[in-house]
Amino acid sequence: MCCGYPFPDDYELSDGAMCPVCAAGKNELDFIRAACVYDDMSRSVMLPFKHGGRIKFARFMSHAMIWALRDLDISPDIIMPVPLANRRLFHRGYNQATLLAREISRVYGAPIDFDSVHRAYRPNMGHKTHAERLKNIRGVFNVVDADKIRGRKILLVDDVMTSGATFTEMGRVLRRAGATAVYGVVFCRVIRAD
Ligand SMILES: [Zn+2]
Repeated sequence: MCCGYPFPDDYELSDGAMCPVCAAGKNELDFIRAACVYDDMSRSVMLPFKHGGRIKFARFMSHAMIWALRDLDISPDIIMPVPLANRRLFHRGYNQATLLAREISRVYGAPIDFDSVHRAYRPNMGHKTHAERLKNIRGVFNVVDADKIRGRKILLVDDVMTSGATFTEMGRVLRRAGATAVYGVVFCRVIRAD
């Protein structure tokens, strides 16, 4: 119900079932949803979109994400693409999360905010576990305009969720700046076999 973690099909789930992390109240986000899991099929969309300049895929991808949110009764005030460090933006030429946010912004009738939070450049160290990634990403986001965050319900948009450390850290920073609710939506989510 909370982070949207997909349980195996043979689990008998009651309405409102939560994963152990959310049940322990350790999730910084109110809801997370993904359009699909990260597999061969979604990778064949993701990689050309993210690294091959196929930005037209954004329209299909964002509609799949809107569909993934369909059961949630949310009314975000702001749609916020997860920021990219300037150095990465310069190399890639676009923030793929902002492209995904455009259609979501239109459907929810909420503006995109892409400049209230800045992201410092930090090299990808190839960390694997959630704890390692969380430690590496800690402090990387800075709220530069808290007036636009305070009292707002914010829907974070990203292309892929790996360990969830990015959302966790964004959620922490936004709540500390006074956001009343933080949701997250991604195109695809990595699910580890274990
Ligand atoms: Zn959960």
